[in-house]
Amino acid sequence: MHKAILWRPGKNNAVQCTLCCHYCLIPAGGKGACGVRLNDRGVLYTLVADNAAALNLDPVEKKPLFHFLPGTQTLSLGTEGCNMGCVFCQNHHLSQPVRAGKKPAGTPVSPDSLVKFALHSGAQSISYTYTEPTVFSELVISTSAAAAEHGLKNILVSNGYQSPEALSRLDATIHAANFDLKSFSDNFYRAHCGARLKPVLRTLRAAKKYGWWVEITTLVIDGMNDSMEELQAIATFIAAELGQDVPWHVSRFHPAYRMTGSAPTVPAAIERALESGYKAGLRFVYAGNMPGHAAENTYCPVCGQLLISRVGFTAHFNTAGRCARCNTTLPGIWTREQF
Ligand code: SF4
Repeated sequence: MHKAILWRPGKNNAVQCTLCCHYCLIPAGGKGACGVRLNDRGVLYTLVADNAAALNLDPVEKKPLFHFLPGTQTLSLGTEGCNMGCVFCQNHHLSQPVRAGKKPAGTPVSPDSLVKFALHSGAQSISYTYTEPTVFSELVISTSAAAAEHGLKNILVSNGYQSPEALSRLDATIHAANFDLKSFSDNFYRAHCGARLKPVLRTLRAAKKYGWWVEITTLVIDGMNDSMEELQAIATFIAAELGQDVPWHVSRFHPAYRMTGSAPTVPAAIERALESGYKAGLRFVYAGNMPGHAAENTYCPVCGQLLISRVGFTAHFNTAGRCARCNTTLPGIWTREQF
């Protein structure tokens, strides 16, 4: 066990964890809601500082990031545990068992071994992903610092529920992020995720201020967050507060976790989301989990030229951040030298 960051002592050996916006009060011998932070006699420890439950080389398009070093591989790392309990979780086998009391499983890793592996395998970045990187912040902080020293970029794939203090610790070493914006309803976050909306919006604004390259994902679910009104509210927030050049990925839900009895999202709901994005002024709106859909591609926002074609996680392009036809600059990070 490694001593955790961001907590304060309380009465009778209780502690308060300040890593995410749950701010759990944890009695001696207890764990936080994420299941991976343990109060041992008045000291908070993390159970996932050095063990990866998932470690793979992925195309960066899988995160999804479409405007950040496209066509490159990213070493993707996640531990068990999560600070949300979304009933539709698509990675529930990694995120949820420890919340129910199971001991976190994983393979021992260290920042040096991860950086060496990434460099040896030709990856251009390391992604903190699969579950919620906030709950393994200690590993993210140490690995992202070591990676940056070796010229690798760092990517956060997050639900945005970290505390402002936790987010600020990543400011200097994270280069890009994909954040979920699951809904624009606080009731949705409370009822289906065990969280709240407002802290997520605050994180998204802060990440943009830090200068990270930010993309947003919404998993669209029939009857839960697919009304035109709600989709427009999400798109308007992104366009007005984060910027019209921030890509929005609207992904199709597949039945999982506590929603195995539900149907996959109907394609018409994804079309509604695409329309909402464009209406709000977003210049890049992408369809996710819809292989072969035209909205997987990137088009020049000025002349409409196809610039990057994608099928699933494979990208084909000949742009270095400019439209080959009208020379419009394409927002994003296209080469490592751009930093
Ligand atoms: S990370 Fe969040 S969920 Fe986990 S113990 Fe800390 S405050 Fe609670």
